[in-house]
Amino acid sequence: MTNPITRDQLIARAKSEIQEITASEVKRRLASKEDFTLVDIRERDEFDQGKIPGAVFIPRGFLELRIEEKQADRDAPIVVYCAGGVRSALAVRNLMEMGYTNVQSMIGGFNGWKNAGYGFDLPRRLTQEQKIRYSRHTIMPNVGDAGQEKLLDARVLLIGAGGLGSPAALYLAAAGVGTLGIVDFDTVDLSNLQRQILHGTSDIGRLKIESAADTVREINPDVRVIGYQEPLSSANAFDIIKDYDLVLNGSDNFPTRYLVNDACHFLRKPLVDASIFMFEGQVTVYLPAHPDLGLVGGPCYRCLYPDPPPPGEVPSCAEAGVLGVLPGIVGSLQAVEAIKLILGIGEPLVGKLLMLDTLDMSFRTLNVKKNPQCPLCGDHPTVTELIDYEQFCGVAPPVTGAVPAARPVLAVNGRSQQTAALAR
Ligand code: ZN
Repeated sequence: MTNPITRDQLIARAKSEIQEITASEVKRRLASKEDFTLVDIRERDEFDQGKIPGAVFIPRGFLELRIEEKQADRDAPIVVYCAGGVRSALAVRNLMEMGYTNVQSMIGGFNGWKNAGYGFDLPRRLTQEQKIRYSRHTIMPNVGDAGQEKLLDARVLLIGAGGLGSPAALYLAAAGVGTLGIVDFDTVDLSNLQRQILHGTSDIGRLKIESAADTVREINPDVRVIGYQEPLSSANAFDIIKDYDLVLNGSDNFPTRYLVNDACHFLRKPLVDASIFMFEGQVTVYLPAHPDLGLVGGPCYRCLYPDPPPPGEVPSCAEAGVLGVLPGIVGSLQAVEAIKLILGIGEPLVGKLLMLDTLDMSFRTLNVKKNPQCPLCGDHPTVTELIDYEQFCGVAPPVTGAVPAARPVLAVNGRSQQTAALAR
């Protein structure tokens, strides 16, 4: 039995056990672009009155549950602030208990910062122009101004600016998704233009990320495009994906598909996945479990296909054709799923695989169950780090185009594991 102590004693004890930092020192570190995570732990209504530029928002009640999403490295520098420096002192103690070794509480909190005359960001309010631009969104009760602000604050990463990435980027940009990351190192080729509608004839030879940024800017100047001109690999996947709310996969090869699936699982990022093959397409959402938040999640790609197929089994991408409009449909469906996830409305395609065949224009939805034997998200995971599978598709990694059909091993309608030829 511990001796009861007063509120003031508790605070004094916390402050004696932790490290504090002054607002002026935080300002200096921000100005010199030092790499540290600044966490605002106040309540939503306080946060909406203004925040320190660059701060991430995790209300105190969720701090321990969500801090790893923002910073999992226990030795990385973290500064926590609240309104006056008391709640943050108590919070720092809890983070130290979780093993964080380099975490400080900002003396005086946000009020001290403001009183010192330092700059802060005011919450977003729609401008007159934005009110008109997004009026068909905001008039809907389940979107409203608040929903549009969520879209403007959202960060979506597109893997590939090709067939699937093109329509997805166009519609996400038009919808006002504020930040679009695009991973693609390729340049625009004449043979892309049959389906990759982000790019035009005058873009041939240009980097896809540059052509994409220009097209998006013309559609909606509210949207910031961040291009990554590099192939996704185990070396950069975490670094790129961690800054986004969700990922939209438009890659056309197995190594990238597994890499993105695994990275999103480890980082607990929702993944809107899709593939296309000739006249047929598939869309689904992989939502990683988050037990601390009570999120059950759904199956992942490896629940369906535990390992990549041997290279010989896959037709080369160059051999497989695709109807040009098909990625237009499938990529647009991905954009819808992304927007639903951002707004928190409707039923995302979690545990459901939507399959469409444009020849008979049929849409079918298969229920897909989480696989307890999944090597990634199952009961006894064997995949515990990112893997770079060998390239066997014959084309460069993050390009979208014709996708070799996935080998299907599915729990059809939730009943049994069975093999079905989905896309033949
Ligand atoms: Zn799984």
